[in-house]
Amino acid sequence: MFKKVLIANRGEIAVRVIRSCQELGVDTVAIHSKADEDSMHVKMANESICVGNNSANESYLNIPAIITAAELTGADAIHPGYGFLSENARFADILEEHDIAFIGPKSQHIKIMGDKIKARETISKTGIPLVPGSEGSIVNLNNLKKTAHKIGYPIIIKAASGGGGKGMKVVYTEENLIDQYDLAKSEAEANFGNDEVYIEKFLEKPKHIEFQIFADKHGNVIHLGERDCSMQRRHQKIIEEAPAHNINISEKKKVLNSIISAMKKIKYIGAGTVEMLYENGKFYFIEMNTRVQVEHPVTEMITGFDIVAEQIKVASGLKLKVKQEDISFSGHSIECRINAENSKTFLPSPGIISAYHTPGGPGVRVDSAAYEKYKVLPYYDSLIGKLIVHADNRDLAISRMLRALNEFIIEGIDTTLDLHKAVISTKDFKSSNYDIKWLEKFLARK
Ligand code: ADP
Repeated sequence: MFKKVLIANRGEIAVRVIRSCQELGVDTVAIHSKADEDSMHVKMANESICVGNNSANESYLNIPAIITAAELTGADAIHPGYGFLSENARFADILEEHDIAFIGPKSQHIKIMGDKIKARETISKTGIPLVPGSEGSIVNLNNLKKTAHKIGYPIIIKAASGGGGKGMKVVYTEENLIDQYDLAKSEAEANFGNDEVYIEKFLEKPKHIEFQIFADKHGNVIHLGERDCSMQRRHQKIIEEAPAHNINISEKKKVLNSIISAMKKIKYIGAGTVEMLYENGKFYFIEMNTRVQVEHPVTEMITGFDIVAEQIKVASGLKLKVKQEDISFSGHSIECRINAENSKTFLPSPGIISAYHTPGGPGVRVDSAAYEKYKVLPYYDSLIGKLIVHADNRDLAISRMLRALNEFIIEGIDTTLDLHKAVISTKDFKSSNYDIKWLEKFLARK
C-alpha cells in the first residue's frame, strides 16, 4: 500500500480523497494555488504545498510544479480527482517516468477514451451499441453533408476531444449545417486545442444512463450498476440518482455483459464510467470517462463500495476483495450538485459564505469543502458541494432530499439550492418522467 498520496486537485473531491486516505492510514499531501491557501483540503491534509498562482494553468494544471511537490514531499502516488489532470495521458506518462504511481488507468486507456472518435472505434468492436454517427472524423464539407444526410437530421456535431458539454452543436436542417460545423470546429480548437469533430444522430428524448465499472490489475472486473444523470442544463449534470428508474432490465443486462467483457479485453484498470443514452428501451454508447465521477457517491450509497478507497488500493496493486456476486444493491440514492450560482440566472456568485449549516439525520451525506467564512473563488468551477441522500426506496429518497435541502443554509452568496427544491418537488421528478431536455423546458416555463 502507498505511504503518502498527493492529491492533485482542490475543492470537494480533494477532501473526498483525503477522507479515504485517512481511513486507509495513508498520509496525504495537498497542493494548492496561492488563493486556495485557506481551503479545507489544505487544512485536512498532513502536509500542503503551494504550486503556483491563482489560475488553474499556473497551479492545478502545472505539471512541473506538481511533480516537484511530489518529489519534495516524498509522495509515492498521486490521485488526480476529476477534471484538471485526471484525463491527461501525458501526466500519467510523466508520473511513470518519475516512479510515482498515478491513481487511475493506464495512459493508453486515457488516450483512447479521451479521443471520442477512437473511443467510438474501440467500442464499436465490442458489441456495445453506439449512437449512429460518422465513422471517424469529418474531413471536409462534402463528407459532412453526405454523412449528415445518411444519418438523418437532427444531428449533433461534437468535438473529438470534447468534455464538460462544451462545443456541441445540434443541427436540425441542412441550411444551418455549415455554419454550425464552422462554429463547432472553432470552439473545439479554442477549448481543447484540437478542431477535429464528428457527428452523431441527435436523439430527441433520451435519458443519460451511465454504468460504473471497476477493475484491478489482476484481470478482475466488476460493475456497480447504473446512474441516471438525465437532469442536465446545457449538457451538464445537475441531479443524479441510482439506480435508474424504469429501464429495460434485459437490455441493461446485455449492455453490462458487453461492457464487462470489453473492459476485460482492453485490460482496463481502476474506476471507469461508460456513458450511454437510453431511448425507447435501447442503450447507445456516447463516451467513457476514465476517472472518478462527480456523481460517484450515489453508487457508493446503494452498494457500500468505497470507490475512492478502492481506486487507491488497486493502484497500489491490491486485488479486488469483492466479486460481482458480493455486490448487492440496496435502496435508492439521489445527489444534488450545489453550485455557487444564481438559481434563476445561473450567473456565478463568488464571495464569502456568511452563514453555513449542513443538513444531517438519517441517510444524509454532504461532500463539500465549504465552511462558514469560506471564500468561494472566481477562478475555478462553481461546485461548492454535493448533497446526497439514501433511503429504502425512491419515494422516501425524494422526501428525504427535500427535507435535507430545506435544512441546508448557505448565506452570503447565491446557490442552486432553490432550483433543486423546485425540481425535486415537481410531479415529473416524482414519477421519474424526465429526460435530458426536461430541465431546459422547465426553466423556460418559469
Ligand atoms: P461531454 O464529454 O462534453 O460531457 P458527452 O458526449 O458526454 O459530452 O455528452 C454530454 C451530454 O450531451 C449528454 O449527457 C447528452 O445530454 C448530450 N448528448 C450527447 N450526445 C448526444 C446525442 N447524440 N443526442 C442527444 N444528446 C446528446
